[in-house]
Amino acid sequence: IKCLPVSINAIISAAMELLDMKFAEAGMEIFTHFDPNLCEIKADQEKLVQALINIFLNALEASSYGARIRIDTAFASPQKSGISVTIADEGCGIAREHATEIFKPFFTSKSCGTGLGLSNARRIIEAHGGHIDVENGEACGAFVKIVLPIEPIR
Ligand code: ADP
Ligand code: MG
Repeated sequence: IKCLPVSINAIISAAMELLDMKFAEAGMEIFTHFDPNLCEIKADQEKLVQALINIFLNALEASSYGARIRIDTAFASPQKSGISVTIADEGCGIAREHATEIFKPFFTSKSCGTGLGLSNARRIIEAHGGHIDVENGEACGAFVKIVLPIEPIR
């Protein structure tokens, strides 16, 4: 990966823009709560856009028409050690028996899924020194949490 100073809010916006038509077709409403005061991070913009697209497509594929997706950015605690990005959807959520499988390459619960989206996203995020977790939301849907370090150690 080639790391340059980038704005995570701008990267998320770029990924959202690429999926604009798909979101519109699915009647999805996307709500963003971006922290406007985030600093730039050293990251590979194209790779992160790719990872986010995989995650956004999963949210879309899990959702029914007109559902909402909420995307938040913030400094990660403790002590602003990184930046967190969370993606919450209102879809079907992760089945309990799939929880340990979803990051495995080629695992899919879909009739024509590739099973490569999350493993690819995790590889990219970990190459940045970051972490990704997926759990179920409090009410429904899936909750994806990404933490990226501000300055990756390489
Ligand atoms: P694919 O989308 O091709 O199935 P992924 O690696 O992107 O492969 O995702 C693996 C599996 O993780 C999915 O098949 C699905 O079971 C589960 N998953 C991922 N994201 C979500 C989500 N937002 N809501 C519900 N299930 C999800
Ligand atoms: Mg996928």
